Amino acid sequence: MNAPSVDIAATFAELGIEVRERGWLSSNNVLFDAGTPAEAATLVDTGYSLHAAQTVAWLRRRLDGRALRRIVNTHLHSDHCGGNAAVQREYGCEVWVPQPSLAAVRNWDDGRLTYRATDQACERFEATGGLRPGSEVWLGARPWQAWATAGHDPEALVYFEPRSRVLIAGDALWHERLAIVFEALAGGDGFVGAHQTLDLIASLAPRVVIPGHGAPFTDVTQALLASRQRLAAFEREPEEHFAYALRALAMFHLLEHRRRPYAQMRAWMFATPVLARGRQALGMSPARARALIDACLDRLLAGAQLTLDGDVLALPPATRAWRTTAKKKGSG
Ligand SMILES: [Zn+2]
Repeated sequence: MNAPSVDIAATFAELGIEVRERGWLSSNNVLFDAGTPAEAATLVDTGYSLHAAQTVAWLRRRLDGRALRRIVNTHLHSDHCGGNAAVQREYGCEVWVPQPSLAAVRNWDDGRLTYRATDQACERFEATGGLRPGSEVWLGARPWQAWATAGHDPEALVYFEPRSRVLIAGDALWHERLAIVFEALAGGDGFVGAHQTLDLIASLAPRVVIPGHGAPFTDVTQALLASRQRLAAFEREPEEHFAYALRALAMFHLLEHRRRPYAQMRAWMFATPVLARGRQALGMSPARARALIDACLDRLLAGAQLTLDGDVLALPPATRAWRTTAKKKGSG
């Protein structure tokens, strides 16, 4: 499985794939485009709503007048489907979502869709239908298998093409980090689901993984091992997992809003529903939660991931430059 010699560019060219690697606020976009009008294109995941205009502009350039037939989502976190509405307006395309999330989209149940819990934005879009785990979906010229995953999001799918053994993993597997195990944060048995997801991916033995964030990679065995170690550490110390979620969601919030008064940010980290439920699930006292919040902000400031401008927390200029670079990158 560990095959660093795989030629990612040649594999993607054969499958008609272009990966647009983005930052943390927006997921990667995976475009299937044969380049002919006859075979209309499909886009897997559309990024965050704040970047929707960029996503549409990129598609216009890449498709150069050709149609986009479909959007397919790995899961419906705001950073993966936040561009759905804008892309749908532009192309009048179908939108296929994981079947377990279909009713929530049709009723726009933003409680179940997590946007209220995380205080993240997502413009309403219309779903054409649901993709069932165990089914196949045509992406480009080949059928891809849809597999159910759990842990990060119990309704998420990953898509696997068995001949090339390319896996579109969404947030089920990243290269060096582990996505928040939201099911565990909510007090459920999410770590078990996350382990089962890693087992599933190992059994598929992908040669190339296209993660939801970060560059496509081939050292899959190593990535699985790193994820398992991280997961085991979180299981031993669930408070560490809570602290990780605190940091990741706070950074996401600041990547979106750029600046926030320190006191307001502190209050946000305490009261945002997904985090409030997380600390309650651990039986954490408010005083302990506030201590973790302060430690988290101290660490982000010490690591220069945030700066303090008077009493306002802000992203340092380097983060802005990084965003511009990520935007300019075009293809992965
Ligand atoms: Zn996600």
